[in-house]
Amino acid sequence: MVVAGGTDLFPNMKRRQQEPPVVIGLRSVGALHGVQTEDGQLRIGALTSLHDVATHALVRQRYPALAIAAGSVSTPPLRRMGTLGGNLCLDTRCTYYDQNYHWRKSIDFCMKKDGAICWVAPNSPRCWAVSSSDTAPVAVALRASLKLVSASGERSVSAGDFFRDDGILYLTRRPDEIVASIEFPASDGWRMTYEKLRRRGSFDFPILGVAAAVKVSDGVVEEARLVLGAVGSSPIDQSHLAAPLFGTRPTFEAIASVAAAAYKGARPLDNTDLNYAWRKKMARVYVERALAAVCDVEIPEIVR
Ligand SMILES: Cc1cc2nc3c(=O)[nH]c(=O)nc-3n(C[C@H](O)[C@H](O)[C@H](O)COP(=O)(O)OP(=O)(O)OC[C@H]3O[C@@H](n4cnc5c(N)ncnc54)[C@H](O)[C@@H]3O)c2cc1C
Ligand code: SF4
Repeated sequence: MVVAGGTDLFPNMKRRQQEPPVVIGLRSVGALHGVQTEDGQLRIGALTSLHDVATHALVRQRYPALAIAAGSVSTPPLRRMGTLGGNLCLDTRCTYYDQNYHWRKSIDFCMKKDGAICWVAPNSPRCWAVSSSDTAPVAVALRASLKLVSASGERSVSAGDFFRDDGILYLTRRPDEIVASIEFPASDGWRMTYEKLRRRGSFDFPILGVAAAVKVSDGVVEEARLVLGAVGSSPIDQSHLAAPLFGTRPTFEAIASVAAAAYKGARPLDNTDLNYAWRKKMARVYVERALAAVCDVEIPEIVR
């Protein structure tokens, strides 16, 4: 396996969730670092630290949702080590998996590593571990693409196609490919944000993330994107549900009806922090907040 900042892989190796016989460090490859612009697009090297992404003046100005998401990952020391590429390749998480070896052994392990059964859904043929990356829903919402490089060549894959709805095979990246860079299309005319729900505001993985973006002209919405994170094994693109906002000057009522539709698509299971039924309800609240923010619509006092 390759390692970037090691803030996910090394703890996992200590708990024997991942046991690669060989680990290859990427940090010294200079070409994988840095933030560049070209033809209005933004290219971020996969090894760029989350701190550098979150504090970069151009990212903050033109891609604020990305800056917010990167800046909300774990703690300042981990953001200085952790990288954007590592965050997008982050292993999926589950209460029955993110435990030490002896804890997992005591339940005879589970399907994701060393075992045969899924303790969350015992009759399920698949693993439901959760995509818990903060930047993943933002990358999907902003229609970013990832440049993958291997000994046999290069290819570019959209963020939407990079993630797979499976707790074990959660990426479409081949094992011999590394993520070299992430490209974000020009953001002219777009307003965007990222809302994160977690137990502790100081640091914690998301148990819900909402990336919202709207393209507005004279106050009228031309296009909208809405992607939920941490409520499934991959980011859930709900952008089609925001179509009723197109060609309108959104009201809170219109936003609330999009949020009511979007929250039905959030299907959190009982395998991360806090109560999953409450997390589902919060999807509606957080979608309302995110869309109201990007559409510059005030949330009525009674709802707040
Ligand atoms: C206490 C704690 C709190 C955390 N909180 C959060 C949080 O709130 N939100 C969040 O999103 N994450 C959180 N994390 C997880 C982690 O710190 C971040 O996701 C970080 O961005 C991972 O990046 P990294 O460079 O350290 O990845 P690594 O640990 O180096 O790698 C992670 C995975 O990505 C693969 N990988 C890394 N780079 C590449 C590449 N260029 N090409 C191909 N594969 C690659 C590795 O092989 C590995 O499978 C937390 C971790 C800890 C320990
Ligand atoms: S969802 Fe099931 S198989 Fe996947 S990690 Fe959790 S318990 Fe294991």
